[in-house]
Amino acid sequence: MLNQIKGLHHVTSIAGDAAQNNAFFTDTLGLRRVKKTVNFDAPDVYHLYYGDEVGTPGSVMTYFPFPNAARGRPGTGEVGTTVFSVPEGSLGFWRDRLAAKGAANLAEDAPFGQARLTFDGPDGDGFALVEQPGDTRTPWAGNGVGADEAIRGFHSASMRLRDGGAMGELLGFMGYEKLDTSGDVTRFAVNGDAATVIDVETLPGAAQAQQGAGSVHHIAFAVENREKQLEVRKALLDTGYQVTPVIDRDYFWAIYFRTPGGVLFEVATNEPGFDRDEDRAHLGEALKLPSQHEHLRGFLEDHLQPLEG
Ligand code: ZN
Repeated sequence: MLNQIKGLHHVTSIAGDAAQNNAFFTDTLGLRRVKKTVNFDAPDVYHLYYGDEVGTPGSVMTYFPFPNAARGRPGTGEVGTTVFSVPEGSLGFWRDRLAAKGAANLAEDAPFGQARLTFDGPDGDGFALVEQPGDTRTPWAGNGVGADEAIRGFHSASMRLRDGGAMGELLGFMGYEKLDTSGDVTRFAVNGDAATVIDVETLPGAAQAQQGAGSVHHIAFAVENREKQLEVRKALLDTGYQVTPVIDRDYFWAIYFRTPGGVLFEVATNEPGFDRDEDRAHLGEALKLPSQHEHLRGFLEDHLQPLEG
C-alpha cells in the first residue's frame, strides 16, 4: 500500500463560456483565480485555475473552457460531484448567496451526518458545500465572501461507477481506507493534509457518462515532490496500470492513468506551485504561457475571451 498520496491536488473540468466560468468561481464562490494560462495540449483554449490565496494543493479547481462545447451527459465513469469544505454554520449564508446569484438545483441533505448544500455550476457541473468542523485551512477572503464563510478548499470528490469494487481496491492500494457506507455510496479517506475524502457511488444500471461542458475531466492526487511521484508511478506500473511519463505542467509535475470504470486520475506534485512565475499579490492576472507556446502570445491575446479581474 502506498503512503505518498496526501489527498486531492486539483480537480479539472470542462466549461463552455470562459467569462461565465470565471465569474462563477470568483464572484459567486469567492475563490481566487490563481492562474490564467492555456491548455498545454490545445493552446487555443484557456486553462483557468481557482483556489485559495496561492492555489494550495487541495484547493484548486481548474477548467478548460471550450467556447462551443456541448453539454456533457451525466452518468457513470466520472466524478459526479466536487465537494468544497466550508465552516460549521455557514450553509445558510451560502444558500442565500447561491440563490441570489441564480445557482440552479439548490438542495440540502446530510450524507454521512454532515450538512451539505448541493447545486449546479454554470454548465450543469455537480457541486456541493459541506460543513466541515475543524478545517483549519486559511481561506481566500478577497472576493466578497468573508473568512467566516469562505471555502477552505476541497472536502472530497464523489465518483459514479457501475461497479465500485475495482475502484475500492485501487483506492486501497493508493493508501485510502474505507470509512463508511451510506446507501449506494462508500466513503474512503487517506491519512493526509486536506481534501482527504473520496466517495464512490455504485450505480450498476446507470448509463455511461458522455464528457462535455460541465463534466470533470480528471482528478489529481497530491504528492509532496517528484521523488514521491516516481515511487507512485513505479508502484502503479508494477501493478499493471498504464501510466504516462512525468509531464511538466509548469506549476507541478503530472502523471496520468485511466482507472477501472473510466475515471482519469492524475498524480501531481506540490512543487513548484503557482507563484513560481508571478508575484503572489498578482497571481492569475496576466496571461502566462508555457515556453513552448510563448510564440503564440500575440494570436492568443487577440483571440482568447477577455476575463474580469
Ligand atoms: Zn490535472
